[in-house]
Amino acid sequence: APLAEAAPIAARHDAVDFLLAAEAVRGALRAALKGAPDMARALARLALDRFAPRDLGAIRDGLGRAEAMAAALDAVTAAPPIPPLVVAARTALVPADGPRAELARALADPLPARLEDGGLVATGYDGELDALRRLRDGARDAIAALQMDLAQAWGVASLKIRHHQQFGFLAEVPAAAGEKLLREGAKDGPHAPVHRQTMANAMRFTCTALAELDRRVAEAGEQAAKRERMVAQHLRRLCLAAAPGIASTAAAMAELDVHAAAAELAADGTWCRPEVTDRADFAVVAGRHPVVEAALARARGPAFVPNDCDLSAGRRLCLLTGPNMAGKSTFLRQNALLVILAQAGLFVPAERARLGLTDRLFSRVGAADDIAGGRSTFMVEMAETAAILNQATSRSLVVLDEVGRGTATWDGLAIAWSVLEALHDRIRCRTIFATHFHELTALAGKLPELAPAHMQVREWRGEVVFEHRVGPGAAEKSWGVHVARLAGVPRPVLMRAQEVLKALEARARGLDPLSDELPLFARPAAAPPAEAPAASPALAALAEIDADSLSPREALDAIYRLKSLLGPVPPGAE
Ligand code: ATP
Repeated sequence: APLAEAAPIAARHDAVDFLLAAEAVRGALRAALKGAPDMARALARLALDRFAPRDLGAIRDGLGRAEAMAAALDAVTAAPPIPPLVVAARTALVPADGPRAELARALADPLPARLEDGGLVATGYDGELDALRRLRDGARDAIAALQMDLAQAWGVASLKIRHHQQFGFLAEVPAAAGEKLLREGAKDGPHAPVHRQTMANAMRFTCTALAELDRRVAEAGEQAAKRERMVAQHLRRLCLAAAPGIASTAAAMAELDVHAAAAELAADGTWCRPEVTDRADFAVVAGRHPVVEAALARARGPAFVPNDCDLSAGRRLCLLTGPNMAGKSTFLRQNALLVILAQAGLFVPAERARLGLTDRLFSRVGAADDIAGGRSTFMVEMAETAAILNQATSRSLVVLDEVGRGTATWDGLAIAWSVLEALHDRIRCRTIFATHFHELTALAGKLPELAPAHMQVREWRGEVVFEHRVGPGAAEKSWGVHVARLAGVPRPVLMRAQEVLKALEARARGLDPLSDELPLFARPAAAPPAEAPAASPALAALAEIDADSLSPREALDAIYRLKSLLGPVPPGAE
């Protein structure tokens, strides 16, 4: 939802401008933001009381990073003055009464994965918890001491005290030593063995002293865990009490992230600050499609060709024709993208751009269907067109990539024709209308605000070379058959298409496109019936070759053989 008012957009552009110039500050902000935790999400989990230790850690670390960002902004001393949006974000970065200092004291490092694991609270934060932990750990030392005492008292050097899920702590001795203890019979005193379990190779015993210790350890452990849960709840409440401030801090970090990222995009000098006006301007100089440009750069192929686009008063409606694959869709979308970027408060990939505010952006591109929703391709196309005609205003930008292609030629042309007239006469919005209906350029004389443009191509040895450059006036032809060849359509089909095309063009030439006759559908008088190619010995030999099993030497022989079968070739023949 980009903004639709000039002042707040300019405020965002000011912030980007500032961070573009203040390179060191931008670097420090981006470094602090890298890997910054999601405080808003952590807050939500804390509010629901479904949190893990890392959520408290996220608040601690996030507030820490926000403080680093604030410090980076405070370090700005030189002019230019800091723009208002950045000043506001700076203030929100450090919430009053934020729990950061307390969390830093309270939380252990590293934090356990789950609360039940224990160890969330750092030593030294809560005296009572520390005392319980000492008791618990002290009891563990006492167990080690008891193990030594029992080994001596029972005369079993290999005695081990082990913890058992059900019976707690038990002293385990080898089976033979166990038999001996059993034979010696009952004894009195705190170390007197009491049999508990017999296993294949060992026996387990307890005694009063061991049972007592077991009880103390369990109790201390339980109390420490309980105390730790209390401390965790205290920290949770602390965060929730400061939640509004923390949420504003998170929002300020996000906002600075966007401004700094936008400045970073513009840092190489190929993006510019757009001039956003309240008028119906639209003048882009050397605009580019950021995504296609990046893809071309990655592929290390030819560079992206920048293009101007002028939809100012007097030429509001650009009727774009040109061959397939020449770059019409790219041009159309790049200009729509520029508007979105500019009104979102970002810089734009262009040399210069003066853009009048757009209230809504409408696009109809591509051939999608919605068969599950009961709408065919053409139905979707018309529904989208209807939405544009019903909702667009004089302040909208409309980009239409083909209208009327999903139905019969003359129906389609008629629809495209009347849509174009409605956009021009009634809605009066800025529009880029790409089409293969070259007949529409006839409207250029009739509609004063319609400016025909075309994608330039060069012909080179019968081939088409796409220049991706937009020029004034209409295109001459579509080169559709040529593009079909590039896409791998089989040669016989292409040859036949070329024939039919010639015949259709010959038939249509001289006919008024709006006369009652339908030139594109008229039966081509000159079109010869499809004939099977004359049987040729060279073709027959070619068909017999199994290309996959040839050695290079055999392939060369085959070429000589085929050439000899062709016989003499007349000069100029292909
Ligand atoms: P069609 O009529 O077949 O839909 P189109 O004229 O809409 O074709 P696009 O789809 O816009 O053509 O572009 C085809 C390809 O040409 C793109 O995928 C892109 O690689 C390349 N291209 C388009 N515009 C440019 C440009 N300005 N600079 C460099 N390459 C471009």
